Amino acid sequence: MSTLFTKIINGELPSDKVYEDDQVCAFRDINPAAPTHILIVPRKEVATVDDLADDDGALVGKMILVARDLARSEGIADSGYRLIINCKDEGGQEVPHLHLHLMGGRPMGPMVVRT
Ligand code: 5GP
Repeated sequence: MSTLFTKIINGELPSDKVYEDDQVCAFRDINPAAPTHILIVPRKEVATVDDLADDDGALVGKMILVARDLARSEGIADSGYRLIINCKDEGGQEVPHLHLHLMGGRPMGPMVVRT
C-alpha cells in the first residue's frame, strides 16, 4: 500500500510539483495556509519523525536544503519563512508520510496558538 504522497510523487494523483530528485519531491499544498505553501516529501516512505532511522540524517538535511532553495526561487528567502514538521496526532500530522512544510509570503504570526 503506497501513501497518498507516494501516489502524488509517482504521478498517480495530480499535483503542482515544483521540485524533484532521486531523494525528495516538492509540490504545492492543496489547501495553502500562506501565499507560498510547499510540501517537501522524501520518496522513502517514513511515516513520522518518530520513525526516522539514525542513518536518515542526510535525508532530513536534504529536505531542509531543498526548502532553502525553494524559498529563494519563490522570492521569500529575504523576507523569511517558516518550516514545520508535524508529528503524529498531537503534533497535528494528518498525512502519515513525513513532510516538511515551507510557508511564507506573509508574516506567519505566532508559532503556536497559546491555550
Ligand atoms: P500535516 O497536517 O500532515 O502536517 O499536513 C498535511 C498537508 O497535506 C496539509 O497541509 C494538507 O492541505 C496537504 N494535503 C492533503 N492532501 C493533499 C493532496 O492530495 N495534495 C496536496 N498537494 N496536498 C495535500
